[in-house]
Amino acid sequence: MMIEQLNTASTADFVALLDGTYEHSPWIAERAAAARPFKTVAALKVALARVVREASRDEQLGLIRAHPELAGKAAVAGELTAESTNEQQKAGLTACTPEEFAKLQQLNADYNARFGWPFILAVRGPRGLGLTRQEIIATFERRLRAHPDVERAECLRQIHRIAEIRLNDKFGIKPALGEQLWDWAAALAVHSEDEAFLTCTYATPQHTAVAEQLMAWMRDCGFDDVSRDAVGNVIGVYHGTADGDEQQRLLTGSHYDTVRRAGRFDGRLGIFVPMLVVRELHRAGKRLPFGIEVVGFSEEEGQRYAATFLASSALTGAFDPTWLEQTDAHGVSLRDAMRAAGLPGKVAAITALHRDRSRYLGFVEVHIEQGPVLDSLDLPLGIVTSINGSRRYTGEIVGLASHAGTTPMGQRRDAAAGVAELILFAETRAASVPDVVATVGMLEVPSGSINVIPGRCRFSLDLRATTDEARDALDADVRARLDEICQRRGLSYTLQPTMSANAAPSDAAWQSRWEAAVAELGLPIHRLPSGAGHDAMKMHELLPQAMLFVRGGNGGISHNPLESVTVDDAELAVQAFRQLLTSLDGLDASVRR
Ligand SMILES: [Zn+2]
Repeated sequence: MMIEQLNTASTADFVALLDGTYEHSPWIAERAAAARPFKTVAALKVALARVVREASRDEQLGLIRAHPELAGKAAVAGELTAESTNEQQKAGLTACTPEEFAKLQQLNADYNARFGWPFILAVRGPRGLGLTRQEIIATFERRLRAHPDVERAECLRQIHRIAEIRLNDKFGIKPALGEQLWDWAAALAVHSEDEAFLTCTYATPQHTAVAEQLMAWMRDCGFDDVSRDAVGNVIGVYHGTADGDEQQRLLTGSHYDTVRRAGRFDGRLGIFVPMLVVRELHRAGKRLPFGIEVVGFSEEEGQRYAATFLASSALTGAFDPTWLEQTDAHGVSLRDAMRAAGLPGKVAAITALHRDRSRYLGFVEVHIEQGPVLDSLDLPLGIVTSINGSRRYTGEIVGLASHAGTTPMGQRRDAAAGVAELILFAETRAASVPDVVATVGMLEVPSGSINVIPGRCRFSLDLRATTDEARDALDADVRARLDEICQRRGLSYTLQPTMSANAAPSDAAWQSRWEAAVAELGLPIHRLPSGAGHDAMKMHELLPQAMLFVRGGNGGISHNPLESVTVDDAELAVQAFRQLLTSLDGLDASVRR
């Protein structure tokens, strides 16, 4: 109702209907009016954000400066807009202790002195219920150290989040599925090996507790069969209309293990999304002409054992039995860890998990982007084109450690300078091709000294690209340059390959189904590669696959406690998945694959 009303209103009425969405800035609605009609409220939100993104820098700063300080003088004097008063009240900013109030005043002053505009934070937060005063102060302190350009962009994103919540309030929108997802993520995060942070590594008691919780929720959602398999994967099956052994299933899911000091959504989001879709199907008493099999993969992050992707490898038939002898940092073998977690730890039980590809339509995975792209474009969802292929090395350049004072510049054999030249070449070379990245993440001068020219320099090299050809070309160029640098500088080097993974391009049919689902929600289709590896990369060996990315907040940071997803974006991810199933339902069985 609301969107039709907005679509058919005069421009003046459209602006009036959206009054108060963006603080003292009717120009945003005025310009967005030209982009009508909007298919959904989500489409309206994206259009409003786009107006701001395309506005001049002065207009953007004007918008930021139209906002009051948090718990500032205007708030105390009761001079805020009704919307701001309500938000600051809900965040408890009107009930600060004298110390907190003094702290906030100091932060406001420091922030304004550094940036020249007020600190903007959507104090109702990603869940929509309000951040605590401690969270607000911590965020304030962290962002005070940001680069001004980064901080200005973050302020604008916070303004869009404020506008989103105001629109939801104005039009009575409640992202109930996204809220459920968010609350599940919070409840699972309680099971952690670390008191202050989220850490859940393979086959620990916390890891088992997470599996049990997932199984309980799956049963509540209405899955027909719920189980934990021989490698600890949690499997929920929702049968199709004519379920017999011959009926095909859609396979989906993501991992529930985490890195150390992790975020709550990496992996787990991709289990929750299909769980919610099944819950809705079950509540509506609806069955699809195919089954849905949701997998909570037990291991993807490679934290406790070197055997990364051991969970998805079991499904593709690539589980290497020698992995059972691998030991963790405390000398516990994988086999013993499995047994301690109540799993059989037997090769035959693991081999039996190998899936018969003819029984599946394909594999789809929803995952938090873990990067800044969607956040910087103000887009909630993105469609993955390919999971990057990669190659890694550790290397060492050897020169001559000689006196820093007596060795003339022309007679040095500086190993670190050689690596430095290689780093700059890799950076330029990768930047010259879209979607190719190169990183030297480790750099070390062993026993270096302030007055000694580096005689040795160790480094790592991580190369990734959307296609194997692009990766190989990058790899060849970087290695050729390393050789050339060492020849020219009188250095020698060693280079050890440590990892190589092929790119996993999305299946064209499945990728276009994700695109259609996102378009159906009224959202722009944005395609992007996945720079990170995912379970889908492994499942690619068995089935056609395609992934959907969900925007991460805080600049898309992941593998970090600051990782964040809003309930509204989570809601859209669930809707997109539901849309994907709806479109499959309408397809002839022979076309579906
Ligand atoms: Zn992940």
